[in-house]
This record gives sequence, C-alpha cells and structure tokens, in this order.
Amino acid sequence: MQFLITGAAGFLGQGLANRLVQDGHAVRALDDLSTGDPSTLSPDIHFTRGDVNDRPKFWTLLQDVDCVYHLAARVLVPESVLYPRDYDTVNVGGTVTLMEAMRDVGVRRVVFISSGAIYGEQTEQPLREDMRPNPRSPYAVSKLAGEYYVRTIGNLWGIETVCLRVFNAYGPGQQMPPTYTPVIPNFLRHATRNGTIVVNGDGSQTRDYVYKDDVVNAMAAAATAPEANQQIINVGSGIETSVSELARLVKAATGTEPEIVYNPRNAGGVERMCADLTLAKKLLNYQPLVSLKDGLGMTLEQDERLQKQQTQTNA
Ligand code: NAD
Repeated sequence: MQFLITGAAGFLGQGLANRLVQDGHAVRALDDLSTGDPSTLSPDIHFTRGDVNDRPKFWTLLQDVDCVYHLAARVLVPESVLYPRDYDTVNVGGTVTLMEAMRDVGVRRVVFISSGAIYGEQTEQPLREDMRPNPRSPYAVSKLAGEYYVRTIGNLWGIETVCLRVFNAYGPGQQMPPTYTPVIPNFLRHATRNGTIVVNGDGSQTRDYVYKDDVVNAMAAAATAPEANQQIINVGSGIETSVSELARLVKAATGTEPEIVYNPRNAGGVERMCADLTLAKKLLNYQPLVSLKDGLGMTLEQDERLQKQQTQTNA
C-alpha cells in the first residue's frame, strides 16, 4: 500500500513509518520538525518538511495514497493550557486541512491518532469508547474536535475513518522536551543519574502505560481492518498502574536507588485512567504484548544503544 504519515518524525510516527516500510509498503512522511527528528527514519521513506495547514502540499503528497495516518500535533498538555490557540490551529485546523485535501484528491481511509486524554475524570473504569468525553485541557479538546471533524467530513464525503484513542505511550526514542517531560522518560532520566524522582500528588493516581510497539501494531492494523470505518477505538495496555508503582518499577529496571519525593501541591491531573480494550481486540485483533516491566527494560537498553551510536557519530 501507499501511505502518508503526518508527524512522521515524532516518537510514534517514526516507529510506524519504519514498521510500514519494513512490511514492504511505500511511505511518504510529512513533518514540520518543530519537535520531530527525521534522523531515525529509514532512507526508504520519502520525507517532506512541511506544515499540516499547507493544503497545496497535501494535494501533491496525497496522490495515489491509499491511507493517511494523521499524527502531527502539538502534544504537551500543560503547554496547551498556556497557548490554546496554537493547539487549535495545529491540532484542529491541521486536521480539517488534511480532511479537505483528502476529499479533493479522493483518498480512501484516514487513521486519526486521538488520545485517552479526552475521557478526563470518569466515575467508572476501565474507560469505554461510548462514555461521554470529559476533556480537561485544550489539548484534550483539540483531540476530541479532531475526532468529530474526521468522522463528520469522512461521513459526508465517503472517506473511511478510524480514530485511535492512544493512552500513555512510552518506549525508546521518546521526545524529551526540556519542560513538561512525559513521566516515563522523566523518571528514567533521573533514576539513571541517581537523581531525585518527583511524583506529583500522592502517587496514587493511575495511568495506562502502553509500549510503543504495541501502539504501532494497532495503528498498522487500523489501515485495513474491515469493520473499523467510523469507529473510535482505545489503544492501551488495559492495565492500571499507579505513579508510585511506576517509580518502583523504574528503580528496579535501572538498579539504582533514587530518592522519591512527593509534590502534593501539583495534583497531577486525572485520578484514574485505564483503557477498556474490548473493541480494539474485536476490530483490530489487538493484543498488547509488552509488560511495563519489560518495556522499561527495553526502553533503557535501546536508548542507551542509540546514545552510544550518536556519540560515536559525533566523535
Ligand atoms: P511527537 O511530538 O513526538 O510527534 C508529533 C510530531 O508532529 C512531531 O514530529 C512534530 O514535529 C510534528 N508536528 C507538530 N506540529 C506540526 C505541524 N504544524 N505540521 C507538521 N508537523 C507537525 O508526539 P508523539 O508522542 O509521537 O504523538 C504522535 C500523535 O499521537 C499525536 O497526535 C499525539 O496527540 C498522539 N498521542 C500520543 C500519545 C503518547 O503517549 N505519545 C498518547 C495519545 C495520543
């Protein structure tokens, strides 16, 4: 198949792009490199630097494409609280621009990467796709708006759509922005340096941590899953882990003894998050394969190897 992936130089995008090329597909990649790094993309991928609001660029890139994966987005929840307009422009505007261009060119399917963040606080766990969304940040609102636009425009113009609500993905190569670093790379970095792990709140809040390769498996399946049109599907591990437990697992994986301090002034967001995977299993034949313990080990190992390679290249 011929694919276009937006946000392909990012953490999940490059994993997906390399996997699809390995599977023998043709892949075009679009990314504005605002945070992404294309250096780990296979040379077989046709990379274009560009913005998701550039409709003429999409007209060119979409020629003969069978399926688009739309991952390009601003992804930092706290940043979205400060700059909601930027999140609206890129995450919502960019999605509408892509859908218009897909309509113009006539592309069959789009897989939109949404987020478990759209659920917000709920009274029940695990989180099912039919629950009423309760977004608590402009980031979550932008992802929910993206879902609605994708499904509505898809429905109006006969474009097949699949929305994947990805939970807390982690793995090798995850971006480490200087501020708002995601929790797993943050804990790993401090633990490997024998620093201090800071847990927001009392550590009892839970998340569903899903290994990058499992997310890539779900995304790959979504391109051709026959019953997935117009569906919204959770992609997680199906396992709820408290932040305190995560800190303990990070300590064990790194074999270090970092100090763990709690920051009660920062409550750390939603109390509980765990994905119900019934629909993913049924529609995508999805089964998460990597436990958090193994995933942390593989992340450490591969990131270390990558760092050594980069040091050798720079020397
Ligand atoms: P990432 O920041 O590594 O990737 C996003 C990519 O989009 C980056 O390479 C960035 O350069 C690019 N981008 C940003 N603005 C752009 C623009 N205007 N035009 C073109 N490219 C642009 O993040 P990620 O973790 O790989 O996330 C990928 C997608 O998955 C995002 O849509 C995100 O919302 C979604 N998601 C991620 C997670 C997670 O835990 N990583 C969870 C839920 C949903």
